[in-house]
Amino acid sequence: MLFRLDYRVYRLPLPTPLRTAHGPWVEREGALVQLKDEAGRVGYGEAAPIPWFGTETATEAAAAIRALGDRVTAEQMAAVPERLGSVRFALDCAMAEGTQGLGRRLGKASSADETRPEAAFHPGRRLPVTGLLPAGRAVLAELPKRLEAGFVSFKWKVGVGDLGDELALLDDVLALLPTHAKLRLDANGGWDRRTAARWLSRCAERPVEFVEQPLAPADEDGLRGLAGDYPVSLALDEAVAGLAELRRWQAEGWPGVLVVKPALAGPWPDLVEWIRTSRADVVFSSAIETVVARAAILRSVLTGPELTQRALGFGVGEVFGNRCWDGPVIGPVLDAGWLQGFNLEDAWTALA
Ligand code: MG
Repeated sequence: MLFRLDYRVYRLPLPTPLRTAHGPWVEREGALVQLKDEAGRVGYGEAAPIPWFGTETATEAAAAIRALGDRVTAEQMAAVPERLGSVRFALDCAMAEGTQGLGRRLGKASSADETRPEAAFHPGRRLPVTGLLPAGRAVLAELPKRLEAGFVSFKWKVGVGDLGDELALLDDVLALLPTHAKLRLDANGGWDRRTAARWLSRCAERPVEFVEQPLAPADEDGLRGLAGDYPVSLALDEAVAGLAELRRWQAEGWPGVLVVKPALAGPWPDLVEWIRTSRADVVFSSAIETVVARAAILRSVLTGPELTQRALGFGVGEVFGNRCWDGPVIGPVLDAGWLQGFNLEDAWTALA
């Protein structure tokens, strides 16, 4: 089957810049792709790389899409190197949506769509979403509001302020949490080994679900050492951008959690196959993609095989400050209703 391929690049400001180990992230760059098959069916995909996670850059992603030309076969798209995980993810989404009519179904439902709504496969699936809490003292004001809104899973960014202040705040945060709620800490690779040891011994007697990326991704021996030395679960995030890194850490016996950003990890079916065969303990997480990639991911998570018991890391808020790109608000629980609230064509048209 021959597809007509079109793409549009985007540069979207992040009104509240996101903190990264490489400084503030002020603008999200990526590309949307559109595939049209010979029957005229259209599907959309999004390449949203994060170069400081070790992925391709947005420029490389766009160049790889452009290099495919405006007429492509499924075989040509499957031959895009695994290193270009965000591009492979985008093309796979667009092809799947086009051939299965999902792109349309996600937007305006047609009569054909209503006869076989995807949600009917798992009508009752409701997945908890982790709410992202602000770093520092602001967490104490925000947490009660999130609890009130119904969140029961939280992630708090640490390694931002003074070590002693943050350790003291941890107890204040835990004191606010009811026993059924869970707390994740994310250091974004910002601690040195000594600081990480202080935190992990502090967390050892406390109900912390896991600590994410305590050391820089390059300190692999340090990460393995911490995982062996403390009873707290550790999660890798920055260390495992693509499927190749996920496979490697899992194969080498990583005992903890692996944060999976599906938008960076290549074709969804390949990811599913790896999770099922390896039985890796994964958390699905946002790569600050727009609604186009997010819709594909959340649709797959809601309607596909159950791959994790852990809350979804998609409670990142309205990062673009624009409904066209953020999509419908994601609350404490995600269900199939979320899939009805947008039209992917709007995003495509907005870049015309
Ligand atoms: Mg993280």
